[in-house]
Amino acid sequence: MKTKKKKILTEKRLSKSTAILPVLSKGRTFKGIPVSPGIAIGTAHIFEQSIDQFPRYWISDREIPSEIRRFKQALNISHHQLFQIQRKICKFERADHSRILETHQMLTKDEMLTGATMDLIQQEHINAEWALDKALSKLKTNFSNIKNDLFRERGFDIEHVSQRILKNLVGKLDDSPKTYKNQSIIVSHDLSPSDTVALPKEIIEGLLTEIGGKTSHVAIIARALEIPAIAGVTNITSMIKEGDPLIIDGYEGKIILHPTKKEQEYYKELRQDFVQKEHQLLKEAKAPTITRDGYSIRLTANMELTEEIPTIKSHGAEGIGLYRTEMLFLKSEQLPTEEEQFQIYKKTVQSLSPYATTIRTIDIGGDKLLSSTDSLDSLNPALGLRAIRFCLREKGLFKTQLRAILRASQYGKLKILLPMITIIEELRQAKKIIDDVKEDLIDKKIPFDKKIPIGVMIEVPSAALMADALAAEVDFMSIGTNDLIQYTLAVDRTNEHVAYLYQPLNPSILSLLKRIVYAAKKMEIDVSICGEMANEPLYFLILLGLGLTELSMNPVSIPRAKQIIRQLSFHKATETLDRALLCKTTAEVETLLRKEAAKIPNFPI
Ligand code: PEP
Ligand code: MG
Repeated sequence: MKTKKKKILTEKRLSKSTAILPVLSKGRTFKGIPVSPGIAIGTAHIFEQSIDQFPRYWISDREIPSEIRRFKQALNISHHQLFQIQRKICKFERADHSRILETHQMLTKDEMLTGATMDLIQQEHINAEWALDKALSKLKTNFSNIKNDLFRERGFDIEHVSQRILKNLVGKLDDSPKTYKNQSIIVSHDLSPSDTVALPKEIIEGLLTEIGGKTSHVAIIARALEIPAIAGVTNITSMIKEGDPLIIDGYEGKIILHPTKKEQEYYKELRQDFVQKEHQLLKEAKAPTITRDGYSIRLTANMELTEEIPTIKSHGAEGIGLYRTEMLFLKSEQLPTEEEQFQIYKKTVQSLSPYATTIRTIDIGGDKLLSSTDSLDSLNPALGLRAIRFCLREKGLFKTQLRAILRASQYGKLKILLPMITIIEELRQAKKIIDDVKEDLIDKKIPFDKKIPIGVMIEVPSAALMADALAAEVDFMSIGTNDLIQYTLAVDRTNEHVAYLYQPLNPSILSLLKRIVYAAKKMEIDVSICGEMANEPLYFLILLGLGLTELSMNPVSIPRAKQIIRQLSFHKATETLDRALLCKTTAEVETLLRKEAAKIPNFPI
């Protein structure tokens, strides 16, 4: 998945706190992927998600039809249960949970799983539980071989549904409300969306899972609900027992089993410190971001699911700078219809009003493949048929999305952002298609915002070099530094073996950034950065000097980013940028930034 710069260590940030971390004893501390920030102190509640024990037996020819009937019955029951859960949560307008559950309902009818299971019952003369387990193992292997996190999530979806079907076959499904002690930290192999929505948020302190990562459903939901969570802790369920005292540090991904008194005190103090700082930050989060010398910049949010909207609003985002709509397409078996997309975009733009929502048209292809479209195999997927290239070929799919966006544009401020434009002809073709869709809507008397702004992502070096020409034909530009770095330094952003080349501060990147922003300013259009580079406090020291109009980032980072930028000077940042542009290496730029940061009181490095 995306290469993300590690967050500035929170312990360093806390160096002003009086808390001193005691030496942690080995064997009681574990490390995972921090997926939702915060500190949880409580006791473990082991959540049994899967069943390992189920009967395996051979069946005769005669028994095959009744075994298949039994399997189909379990499918129907599972489908019905998921439908009931979905109905319940719909009341609370959890649109994304609802969609995930819809996907799960569809999976109970999915040929890949159900057809394969029935084939195994017939061909291998085995009982339904055993056949389902075998079919699932095969699918799991296929999915786990796929590198992309989002796509791997689909494998988890299949596993969640299979577990439900299996429990129904064995008769072990218990959907009744469970009892939890106060301050429970849920420890589980995995948590399905239906499990997660059923958790009593008021008394749950934290979540800890063996599998998953930053884009797991559980991670997204945990972040939205502001529950600290850690994922990807292999075998943790075999090391922790029900009721074990536990601490999880969702900033660092640290887990402490049986914490000592000192450790407990340390983390309590740490949590208190965070809560206070967070409280203070949130109080100031709604105010605009203006540097000491009066330069103002908009801080907006990157969003993948509408689930994140409450967090986006509470953290002071001044709109959505990047809505990655491909999540909508990746998470369901079938492509979302125009109406489904329209409802989601409408809800988003209405919730964010009066701020703007920037919808990026789907950035699919490369390693983010849709199961419902043809395989787009390529030796170099990142250089293949992805993003706008894919949309210009799959015009039907593109037009459906554009119609949905345009229809939603009458409900607030919407902007269309086109990803991975490489040559100007692509922009022109895309704009022509947008015009065709607009004309069609006018013919049908369907209202939309006739002046909807159209922008391009600048994330390919050719686009950066041609930024002048592009700026003349768009209303705004957004710099996708994640890809711009990947393509400029020829470094696969997902490949840890060449991660040393993933250098946001490389002078080549800085000079491209300067060129892009200069082009935008000449045409007097807005220009933002929406890649991960916009999330890094140290980089603010030069990014501000570029003269960007907006930075779009992970919403939880916004309050702190605002606080830091308010202490900085725009003029100083332009000077630092000029000096950085004279450097020959990334290390020189970094040293320069660290020296500058050291001069600013309380700067978080
Ligand atoms: C980028 O490339 O910087 C970007 C924001 O797009 P994505 O990470 O979705 O490719
Ligand atoms: Mg990109």
